Amino acid sequence: MRRRMAQYILGIDEGTTSARAFVIDDGAVVRGFGQAELTQLYPRPGCIEHDPMQILSVQLEVIRAALRDARITPAQLSVAGLTNQRETALVWEKDSGRPVHNAVVWASRQSVDVVQAWVDAGIGGLIEDRTGLIPDALYAASKIRWMLDRIPGAQQRAERGELLAGTVDSWLIWNLTGRRSFVTDYSNASRTMMMNLHTLDWDDELLGHYGIPRRMLAEIRPSDAHFGDLEATFGTPVPIRATLGDQQAGLFGQAGYREGQAKMTFGTAGVLNVNSGAAPRRISGLTPSVAWGIGGRVAYEVEGVAFAMGKTMQWLRDELQLIHAAPDSEWYAGQVASTEGVYLVPAFTGLAAPTWDPHARAAIVGISNTTTRLHIIRAAVESMVYQTRDVLDAARADSSFVFDELRVDGGAVRNDLLCQLQADILGIPVVRPRNTEATIFGVMLAAALSTGMHSGLDDLAAAWAPDRTFEPQMSRDRAEQMYAGWLYARKLTGNWSTMVPAG
Ligand code: ADP
Repeated sequence: MRRRMAQYILGIDEGTTSARAFVIDDGAVVRGFGQAELTQLYPRPGCIEHDPMQILSVQLEVIRAALRDARITPAQLSVAGLTNQRETALVWEKDSGRPVHNAVVWASRQSVDVVQAWVDAGIGGLIEDRTGLIPDALYAASKIRWMLDRIPGAQQRAERGELLAGTVDSWLIWNLTGRRSFVTDYSNASRTMMMNLHTLDWDDELLGHYGIPRRMLAEIRPSDAHFGDLEATFGTPVPIRATLGDQQAGLFGQAGYREGQAKMTFGTAGVLNVNSGAAPRRISGLTPSVAWGIGGRVAYEVEGVAFAMGKTMQWLRDELQLIHAAPDSEWYAGQVASTEGVYLVPAFTGLAAPTWDPHARAAIVGISNTTTRLHIIRAAVESMVYQTRDVLDAARADSSFVFDELRVDGGAVRNDLLCQLQADILGIPVVRPRNTEATIFGVMLAAALSTGMHSGLDDLAAAWAPDRTFEPQMSRDRAEQMYAGWLYARKLTGNWSTMVPAG
């Protein structure tokens, strides 16, 4: 009997801190893996950039490493899927492929004044109405505007059709397909503040207000479209059959296919995504976006972003030098039974959902003369938990959402103390799946689905399996007291940068 040939799927994951690539087989078993760091450029305080050419070269390097690790040739790949850091913006020359500026990373704040000018001009309501997004420098639109303003002659060149602009998915696909496909998908486009959430196309009225010519922008396709072939990269036509922004891919990987299902990712930032079904849903403080367009159907979602989750651990490690590595936080925080009233509000670059205060700044409050670094480290872990409660409570304001558990993923969920405290403060079980690589698996499964390797969403949902469920153990009274303290501490940080001189 002849053995059936295995089919291989390539997953491309262009993240904020690193680029990764996975090869899995059609039984979803990992056969190969590659990862390499990206250089973070900090041109000014509050600004983060990436070198677009490095994004490309590092991504190619890890794809090759994953293929080597899997001991397969590109010709053995059936399909590829791509997921990426969202909202990060690039502008490049159509003819030469040369970027005109570094990629302005999602967390970068240099376009705060651009957004303020739009709000002052009275288009804040229009932006929210069309895109679902609360105007903020997070999204690609203001970053593109900022680059066009900064580079002499760029606006005219953009109008002449000499420059292209897009998110990381468009940049990578354009390059990996030998400049044949200039495309993006609904999930990425919905986080640019340029896509109309109802028509799923760029909104011409908004583009007019922004001064961003439509001809700069990619064609928006469903998330399981054919995005082009990797022939230019591999010499063999491997099709890209799924593209999803990282958070939406995470919701897909956590099997959040049905309305009302939610996941929380604890990465550098924290993001709650709730599947809201076939129509955009407006909930105060949260943003509606497109989850995906798959199988001819569009699913919407509501999102709650917290800028600093694991980021706070990096700050404790790099700036305060209280820990050597992020995972140490669990041991240190576990050495004390409570923070003894200390709260750390990680509003380093302002607060996102649900309060959206770009002028808030971080604070450690409630310090007494018996406070030690253990209390501060524990307060940092607790800050992740409280921010999740903030966004989940905001989502609960829509009474059709009843959360009886929360599925979690991301680098920080290896921290058992964090997961336990999360269950305690929410009062519902927190479920950590066996596969915490929800993002990359999400897009690889979407790619497999689009080529018929899986029969449908139910198959995929059945493949999701829990690793550990953390049941709430704390009394509700205690949990509510702790959370009330957080709300008070958070309020203290509000509007800080406008009240206090920075220098
Ligand atoms: P991203 O995809 O945003 O780069 P990851 O999902 O890889 O992030 O998660 C990395 C983040 O998680 C880092 O900010 C790190 O500080 C934090 N982190 C990693 N392990 C732990 C841990 N055990 N406890 C707390 N935070 C952690």
